[in-house]
Amino acid sequence: MILRSSPSTARILTRPLISGSVSARHFSAASAVSLNMAEHNSNQASGASLTAYKPRYIDIGINLADPIFRGRYHGKSRHPDDLKGVISRAIEVGCTKLLVTGSSFKSSRDALKIAEEFPGTVFTTAGIHPCSSSIFSPSHHKHHDESQSEPEDPPEQHTPPCGPDPTKPILDGEGVDHARSATIISDLHQLITTAPKSSLIAFGEFGLDYDRLHYCSKEVQLHSFSAQLSLAASLSPQLPLFLHSRAAHEDFVRLLKDAFGPKLEKLERGGAVHSFTGTIEEAKELMELGLYIGINGCSFKTEENCEVVREIDLGKMMLETDGPWCEVRPTHEGWRYLVQWEERGKKEEEEMKRAEEVERKKAEKIEAERRAQEEELEKKAAQLELGGDGGEKVEGEQGQKRQRQPKKPKQQQQQTKKNQKKENEVPDRFKVVKKEKWEEGAMVKGRNEPCTIERIARIVAGIKGVSVEEVCEAAWENTVKVFGPF
Ligand SMILES: [Zn+2]
Repeated sequence: MILRSSPSTARILTRPLISGSVSARHFSAASAVSLNMAEHNSNQASGASLTAYKPRYIDIGINLADPIFRGRYHGKSRHPDDLKGVISRAIEVGCTKLLVTGSSFKSSRDALKIAEEFPGTVFTTAGIHPCSSSIFSPSHHKHHDESQSEPEDPPEQHTPPCGPDPTKPILDGEGVDHARSATIISDLHQLITTAPKSSLIAFGEFGLDYDRLHYCSKEVQLHSFSAQLSLAASLSPQLPLFLHSRAAHEDFVRLLKDAFGPKLEKLERGGAVHSFTGTIEEAKELMELGLYIGINGCSFKTEENCEVVREIDLGKMMLETDGPWCEVRPTHEGWRYLVQWEERGKKEEEEMKRAEEVERKKAEKIEAERRAQEEELEKKAAQLELGGDGGEKVEGEQGQKRQRQPKKPKQQQQQTKKNQKKENEVPDRFKVVKKEKWEEGAMVKGRNEPCTIERIARIVAGIKGVSVEEVCEAAWENTVKVFGPF
């Protein structure tokens, strides 16, 4: 793959070099220093811009209602509830708004509770994911209590992972339980209309997923999507849609058009198709319909995936992590853009250090010259006053001046310390531990979190050959336009 323009060139084009360098280092995973420390260092650096760009992110798809963020894995408690830590790490990287996905009755309600706990940061969606849609089928007794008549403490559910799982698909034929469907839709309507408007800001997650028919048959998924679309269209005012479409593009678009018109002209607030892994043609059709596209780690798995991301307009893109799933892995095609980002960051840091060194030497030379001149003048003055009682005084002043001479090694010391840090190919910004060795403040290996959204922005920037700033600002504005104001 050949980049149309190199990321560093693009960055220079959008910002002055120094500012860009500071911005890059500011938020480098490698620097592993706190924001304040990074700010402090950058302000010390000679010539550094004080208006260095600080990325801001909105994670449009994060499953914080998943019990895994409470330390519970498959029904077993493995470590303390660390949801607060997850959210504070997100905020630390600049991800200050989290759109928590509701993908079933339980997760939609749990998401609302989280929003109550973190007002202004956590916002929610409510809907029934295609993989949770078997509640519409006659044979699915377990999910009967998923609707409002559920017991106080329904069984814990993990959100379905984003990867395909074609094992044992449920075949069509059992049909839909229409009486139950009416109850589900009425319960969902009630949930949505009674939820605080400041928290619940989107309808979803809902849609179609033909990669995972083992959770729910195609015909029941189609019914679930269609019934929820009718509900979404009937709301007044409508909510923007948070949509899921996997290997089902044709049916997905057809049902959307059935509900909102051939150009989705009746869709008042727009929507985003999240976790996009489709083709360029599919992406284009969605964009032409005015929909936005959510990009996460699953969108960078293959070279073809990355080619699609390159073709998605920044004006139609939103960013997400889809945690606890969809982390960017070293096996993903997109990983190499993270490596490039790190390498470029190191190079820019070195260049900045070199420039600082030149500046420092220049300043030292000027200072030395000035001092020599001063001493020369003082010497002459002393010679003129020779024999008088001012001689001693001048000597004293000179002595003081000489003492002031050794200065400025502090900055150098800090830089050396930084260099001594062990750096991997793509270092983690926060410590990562296995769940069995959980510790406060650390991320859990294999459990994706919203703080990794900076990686999504860096990869998109790398693929598209633009600056991280351009990606972040576009995604922020798109998200506020559709799901805001926050
Ligand atoms: Zn999804």
